[in-house]
Amino acid sequence: MTQRSVLIIYTGGTIGMWADPRTGALRPMDLEHLEEQVPELERIGVKLGSVAFETPIDSSDMRPVDWVRVARIIGDHYDRYDGFVVLHGSDTMAYTASALSFLLEGLAKPVVLTGSQLPIGTIRTDAKENLITAIEIAAAYENGRPIVPEVAVYFEYSLYRGNRTVKVHAERFEAFRSPNYPRLAEAGVHIRYDHNAVLPLRTGPLTVHTGVDDRVGVLRLFPGIRPDWVRHALATPDLRAVVLTTFGSGNGPTDEAFLDALRDATERGVLLVNATQCVGGSVEQGRYQTSRAFVDMGMLSARDMTVEAAVTKLMFLLGQGLSDDLMRERFLRPMCGEVSVG
Ligand code: ASP
Repeated sequence: MTQRSVLIIYTGGTIGMWADPRTGALRPMDLEHLEEQVPELERIGVKLGSVAFETPIDSSDMRPVDWVRVARIIGDHYDRYDGFVVLHGSDTMAYTASALSFLLEGLAKPVVLTGSQLPIGTIRTDAKENLITAIEIAAAYENGRPIVPEVAVYFEYSLYRGNRTVKVHAERFEAFRSPNYPRLAEAGVHIRYDHNAVLPLRTGPLTVHTGVDDRVGVLRLFPGIRPDWVRHALATPDLRAVVLTTFGSGNGPTDEAFLDALRDATERGVLLVNATQCVGGSVEQGRYQTSRAFVDMGMLSARDMTVEAAVTKLMFLLGQGLSDDLMRERFLRPMCGEVSVG
């Protein structure tokens, strides 16, 4: 049997934290210490390599340039490894996973993001299982082909499509879900893959995109939202696109002052996208009167995309310097399983 190789990319997060004895505060440890904490890695039967961010960061400090940094590391090592595990804080893992899925065009190897709720050195840590199983999944090949040739998130016995995940719990070990898409695998005694849910193997070379435009905003609606506040937010200089998180199947207030603020922004060239605040389900613009005006002003529907996927897809597409028409067309078109077809 071929011995598979996996590159571990350590960006930071709780998984590699240790408690500073002086202050008690959690601080990042380096990768060698991480490997010391998990001696099982020696026995896993996978050849491991590692790269770490010079200064590991809490995922709340991840920026688009850091997504690109991870994408570049994968690109630079692509031919030498069979799979990749990205160790990352759970807080913004869904954003990084979504961004990587867009940045790594033509990806044909597993990229598995994982982290933990408790630091790896603590007694009840969830880090060891997450790390070991993520490596197994990244190294899983069948008949010479990777079983999961896409960007995925592994957490607490479940593997999810990366760009479908949301972090749903701040404390539970089961911190993630992908409400609009089935799990790619479940890990019990065996790792059971749902082969039908996994993206088909792509052919052709990997293209690592490095252009990301962060001139994007998110505006969460709430009952009583003031039109002048909306107008003010949308007047941010240079703003290119805004994800409006709306009620239910994509609805919002019908108040004319509110709608005027949105219309003025679209007239200034700000691209508006309608994504639901609901954890699951899809936007269906026009189903209720309360989303009719959104249709009329040309707001794009994110359909069943997560907000994380919608934001990162916009940043990615804006980074490609597309024309407005192409940008709209590409946003609606599924790129790597981030939105349901039809
Ligand atoms: N605050 C941490 C982070 O996201 C939490 C975690 O690692 O899960 O980096």
